[in-house]
Amino acid sequence: MIHYFDNAATTPVRPEAVQAAVEAMTQGWGNPSSRYALGSQAAEAVKRHRAQAAAGLGCRPEELFFTSCGTEGDNWAIQGAVELGRRTGKHIITTAYEHAAVLEPCKALERQGYEVTYLQPDRAGNISLDDLEGALRPDTVLVSMMLVNNELGTVLPVAQAAKLVHQKTKALVHCDAVQGFLKVPFTPKELGADLLTVSGHKIHAPKGIGALYIRGGLKFPPMIRGGGQESGLRSGTEATAQIAAFAAAVEAGAASLEGDMAHMAALKEETLQRLTAQIPGLKRVGEGTAPHILAVTLPGYKSEVIVRFLSDRGICLSSGSACHKGKPSHVYAALKLPKKELDGVLRISFSYDTTLEDVQALAEGLKAAQEQLFTSLS
Ligand code: PLP
Repeated sequence: MIHYFDNAATTPVRPEAVQAAVEAMTQGWGNPSSRYALGSQAAEAVKRHRAQAAAGLGCRPEELFFTSCGTEGDNWAIQGAVELGRRTGKHIITTAYEHAAVLEPCKALERQGYEVTYLQPDRAGNISLDDLEGALRPDTVLVSMMLVNNELGTVLPVAQAAKLVHQKTKALVHCDAVQGFLKVPFTPKELGADLLTVSGHKIHAPKGIGALYIRGGLKFPPMIRGGGQESGLRSGTEATAQIAAFAAAVEAGAASLEGDMAHMAALKEETLQRLTAQIPGLKRVGEGTAPHILAVTLPGYKSEVIVRFLSDRGICLSSGSACHKGKPSHVYAALKLPKKELDGVLRISFSYDTTLEDVQALAEGLKAAQEQLFTSLS
């Protein structure tokens, strides 16, 4: 029996999405560009699925472009925005705790002469709008701010940020909403985002599919040039099965969003209560309010050791230091936690199908870990 608490890493594919993918692979497998009926049926299906996904995201179908993943959407948004802004300037603002899919393209641009301001979170994990306002300049071409931080569950003030940016500059606003989509309610328009990234495998669709919202009217440069698919902006034969599954997952997730949010928030609270009551020394990290992500630390213990211990009991969660070559995650490091707390960070992430029994198993597993593992001396 698996008790899965790593939904921020990836999610199981929901049955509606599996069924849609199977249908697309077994019946509607034509190439949407082909001129005969099998092709036009596939093209019709992609059109229908684009409309279905756009309805769930709250945008127009012509504003939604399918990609292969969130990383691609983030890279495209950033590269395209700086290309569009090349006559305005070479300054970008983002946050220090964005996903690598945003930070790495920003670093690449720094090497090409761009200047990037990284807004720092406070100890609670929040980003200040005053800091953003102070960083805005006439030559700022892009502000990229995530909606929900993937390691802390912090919900960032994207709508207020976008308002400020648009009042004061010509910069485009990109939002990496990979962790916010179908976890907190929003539409790209409500956020004031010009560009917004989502990813399939975080919302119970398969891996290999994502989407970039590009605000209508924005003349955005292509990501991949070729046969002209995705209105000429992202060529390559459409991934019809993944697109079908993505649309089905979006529709199902959007239909049950309110109930799912309440379910995840209640389990998150229950987990926090149980763990703080039953595991001496365990502390919360940050104050993230997203319903599906809870970061905690067990100071003095090594999180990788705990993760391995729990894995043997069928419990899956993520350690704070799983990322780069043994270095602690840049997100928790940005909070300037003391080393002992940094080493012991665990990320627990929930989904609509997490149960109270899962929470019970996690609490018991962590208790056993604390009793059976040695604390580290560092
Ligand atoms: N952005 C955030 C906030 C994420 O959490 C992730 C994945 O962990 C990504 C982007 C990258 O998405 P993908 O795995 O679909 O490339």
